[in-house]
Amino acid sequence: MTEFPQRRERVASALASHKVEALLVSSPASIRYLTGYTGSNGLILLTPSESHFFTDPRYATDAQQNIDCKVHISKKTLFDDAAAQVKRKHLKRLGFEPGWMQVEHYERLKTKLGAGVKLVPTSGIVEDLRAVKSPAEIALIRASVNANSEAYAKTLLRVKPGVREMDVAAELEFQMRMLGAEKSAFETIVASGTRTALPHAHPTSKKLELNELLLIDMGAMLDGYASDMTRMSFLGRPSRRIINFYKAVLEAQLAGIAAVRPGTTSGRVDAAAREVLKRHELDKAFVHSTGHGLGLEIHEGPRVAKKQKTKLQAGMVITIEPGAYIEGFGGVRIEDTVLVTEDGCEVLTPTPKELVHL
Ligand code: ZN
Ligand code: ZN
Repeated sequence: MTEFPQRRERVASALASHKVEALLVSSPASIRYLTGYTGSNGLILLTPSESHFFTDPRYATDAQQNIDCKVHISKKTLFDDAAAQVKRKHLKRLGFEPGWMQVEHYERLKTKLGAGVKLVPTSGIVEDLRAVKSPAEIALIRASVNANSEAYAKTLLRVKPGVREMDVAAELEFQMRMLGAEKSAFETIVASGTRTALPHAHPTSKKLELNELLLIDMGAMLDGYASDMTRMSFLGRPSRRIINFYKAVLEAQLAGIAAVRPGTTSGRVDAAAREVLKRHELDKAFVHSTGHGLGLEIHEGPRVAKKQKTKLQAGMVITIEPGAYIEGFGGVRIEDTVLVTEDGCEVLTPTPKELVHL
């Protein structure tokens, strides 16, 4: 028993409020969410009463056996066949996802549909539903989070001065795959020394040295679901300044987590973390937002950022990841994957948060 038909029904029942009669879904993650399809060439046309799935002959067998929609195997482009279907149904207002539509496809679609059909950009119809996870999805995220943390623990045993950042990244990704991940959820970040001040450092051939900070930001993609965690360690004995710096960011991270509950806005959670860093005069060093939703994609709704009005709901899964970055000195970020529950939240990430001394 899958959840796909119910998910499509929920999308279908949202169409009227967006003033469209049908929706073309072209975002790969949303296509997976609505059908389970994981290939690289799919398109869905949803009306209140029908679900059409379009793909090419490479996926014919798989789609016909596993996708519980009307499956169309296109010989030409999928958009041509979807347009033909729209015309056959005499639909007049067709919604599409502007963030997931190439201009080339849009132009072609417009030509095929002709003047009688209006193409309406809609945003967030499927994404808003995806932001609140079902128990089955939460179980998948939990498994992804656990594999990610285990890969981190296994790798940390091999981290020592002389090892290159890129070796650490390769080991992390190898370990997560050995634990069942399809791939990493994003390019693993491994930064050492003053390079930790770059919030999105790519691993380089720089060797880890004694008396350096090490920042690792990693996520697994397991059974389609992402995890995301950042942890810090120190090679040697950290100075008082490093310890205080770390403590300030940890305090901000804990304040962010403490603010997570249903009904509060994600902007309020961001502010809770930001206020702590301000008290430590590190607010200007906090150059990104506090977190983001994750699920089938590493970044999805809700955004946990300044002034965001989105109300948190039980079942949302977000990251809480404040950081502070001082050029020439270093940076600290601490990140957990957190589930919003009925009465607050649950930190899913099991990895301890003390600054590890290696
Ligand atoms: Zn991260
Ligand atoms: Zn993140």
